[in-house]
Amino acid sequence: GATLGIVGGGQLGRMSAMAAARLGFRVHVLTPDIDSPACEVASSATIGDYDDEVALRDFAEHVDAVTFEFENVSAHGLRILESIKPVRPAGAVLEISQDRIAEKRRLSEIGAALAPWREVPDAAALAAAAEALDYRLILKTTRFGYDGKGQFRIRDAEEFAALGTDLPYPLVAEGIVDFEREISVMVARGLDGDVRCFDVTENRHRNGILDLSLAPAPIPPALAAQAQSMARHIAESLDLIGIMGVEMFVDARGGLLINEIAPRPHNSGHWTMNACLVDQFEMHVRAVLGLPLPEATRHSDAVMKNLIGPDDMALCDAVLRMPGLALHLYGKDEARPGRKMGHVNAIFPRGALPGPFGIAAVLGPLVEPVVSEDI
Ligand code: ATP
Ligand code: MG
Ligand code: MG
Repeated sequence: GATLGIVGGGQLGRMSAMAAARLGFRVHVLTPDIDSPACEVASSATIGDYDDEVALRDFAEHVDAVTFEFENVSAHGLRILESIKPVRPAGAVLEISQDRIAEKRRLSEIGAALAPWREVPDAAALAAAAEALDYRLILKTTRFGYDGKGQFRIRDAEEFAALGTDLPYPLVAEGIVDFEREISVMVARGLDGDVRCFDVTENRHRNGILDLSLAPAPIPPALAAQAQSMARHIAESLDLIGIMGVEMFVDARGGLLINEIAPRPHNSGHWTMNACLVDQFEMHVRAVLGLPLPEATRHSDAVMKNLIGPDDMALCDAVLRMPGLALHLYGKDEARPGRKMGHVNAIFPRGALPGPFGIAAVLGPLVEPVVSEDI
């Protein structure tokens, strides 16, 4: 059988590797860390840096097709991989998602609605951007940000003045969206151009990190259809091969704004592991290896709860004793605060997704009462 090459050793690589193994494929990983979550389950690995030419070449020689769970390979590194083996999604798609400004430009060209934004290349551009956005904005580093890291939230002119100008430029400034809820769509596109969308997910964050996902999102069917057709349109416009998470805001008037895209498996798609016959990881592996894409059918409703840091990890023994929960751990030794350690899926018959108190009852100690009340 074929060997799938995965750049990156994190949990997304681990779960992709497990899906590939189920289908009978070998998996070869590129990671700097032999103890990484993906290495533990892969068939073999190249241990080296993502921008080390020798490591990239060695990795590519071992595989039939290359994909990513880590997005930040340099343009030079991407060209090396592409000169040796098929790279899916293409390096050009990764380059767009690596840079928030390139991403916003491209999404605008495609016709996607975005929150108002300004480029902030340096301190000189900062004041004008803040004024244009009425002093209600989020400054984000253009590259390498995740889980809300590298973001500065400003609610008024006073907070803006207090922030100062000594910031990690270049930044992008975004107007704060008073969203009704956050949703996402996992969209996959195969080599033959076939597109599959999983059902729309509602996402709730805590401290900038995804905390809970609900599937299906409790939104009107017409809005769900609009979200899926937007995700499909973005995937087709980018000529995506593989899976992509599209994060969106539902604004106060029920309109859709695109927050960001992630051309890889995505945390907000983890519920598919227990609520779909074919989950996001298998869908991704199939797309990357050129197999036909099955339907993205959801057989159950689902709630996904992330296990973050030492507090959630301390509850794992309790989770193992709770009925109806599927536990997925990533094999990380050190439970640092804010670190994603695993997740739990609870599934329900279709149409029987419980309300806040029902979810709290099923997840037990994993949800704090104060959080569960405002679900
Ligand atoms: P990820 O881990 O999803 O890659 P990230 O660090 O790239 O996160 P964003 O997705 O840009 O960060 O923002 C994190 C969260 O902050 C969003 O899910 C949303 O809750 C909030 N947020 C971001 N931008 C805005 C905005 N313009 N208006 C309101 N809330 C926002
Ligand atoms: Mg992001
Ligand atoms: Mg995000």
